[in-house]
Amino acid sequence: MRRGRFAPTPSGRLHIGNARTALLAWLQMRSAGGAFILRMEDIDKPRSRPGLAEAVIEDLRWLGIDWDEGPDVGGVFGPYVQSRREQRYEEAIVRLMSEGRLYPCYCSRAELAAIASAPHGLSSEGPAYPGTCRHRTARELADRAAVKSPSLRFAMPDRPLHFVDALMGTQYFSAGAGGDFVVKRADGIYGYQLAVVIDDAAMEITDVLRGSDLLDSTPRQLSLYEALGLPAPSFAHVPLLFGPDGQRLAKRDDVINVAGMRAAGVRPEAIIGWLAYWSGLLDRPEPAKASELIPEFEPANVSMEPVVVTEEALRKLVGGSR
Ligand code: GLU
Repeated sequence: MRRGRFAPTPSGRLHIGNARTALLAWLQMRSAGGAFILRMEDIDKPRSRPGLAEAVIEDLRWLGIDWDEGPDVGGVFGPYVQSRREQRYEEAIVRLMSEGRLYPCYCSRAELAAIASAPHGLSSEGPAYPGTCRHRTARELADRAAVKSPSLRFAMPDRPLHFVDALMGTQYFSAGAGGDFVVKRADGIYGYQLAVVIDDAAMEITDVLRGSDLLDSTPRQLSLYEALGLPAPSFAHVPLLFGPDGQRLAKRDDVINVAGMRAAGVRPEAIIGWLAYWSGLLDRPEPAKASELIPEFEPANVSMEPVVVTEEALRKLVGGSR
């Protein structure tokens, strides 16, 4: 059976961009008769605020999106909350370390910031890490270890990589795509790339559909799957929604929060209708229940154009649907 998931980071209220990704991932599974899993990615505790996980759950349910396994409903692959799965990440670290796939990195923030001439890493991160600590002598490492605890980096394989995105087609990446990345920070926090791979594999996820901001994370994740001898899921990336100012939607913007819209009296069907329209699933932004979209859903019909949520559209959505 196919298994898909939505894996939000509870660092803010659910906005309509997150809601759209959730809707498409949910439709992909529901239209294929697959299972849908909700997982809270609260591994970066300083960024995750208490109560937000519950709020995200409430917003998704209100929109008509449901799941077969998740933090609130349980399931055989639980717990479905990353902060309760750290043991598993540590086991993977120990294994990767013993196989020589990780190395300690002692670079300071200032040293990292000075890597201005390096080729670009992930769009979310700036310059790629040039592997400074990978090439340090044992002596240098010992000197640094005496004064600082290291982060652990995964050494990316030194060869180009490609994969077939289920929606965007074949994606090519140059050798070491994005540079060697941190799997465990010096303060003990496990990296997103590691946690997401361990969890998707453990939860037997077959289909990952997510926002295209994570497209450049995929070669990292594929390299981890390979290093750990785990089967990788199929990946599909969808374009992001942009705000009227052309910027990516931000979680703190109340106007585009699902909860803010609900408080303003907007109906869930109105939001789903617009999300479906922006995604190329409806010809007009007319109200629709999420479940009504299942029979007609074809992943190939999802529009691959970036969507700009205009002021006028927001006015119609918030003002016109009460
Ligand atoms: N937790 C990630 C986020 O909210 C998504 C992880 C994923 O879908 O792979 O951006």
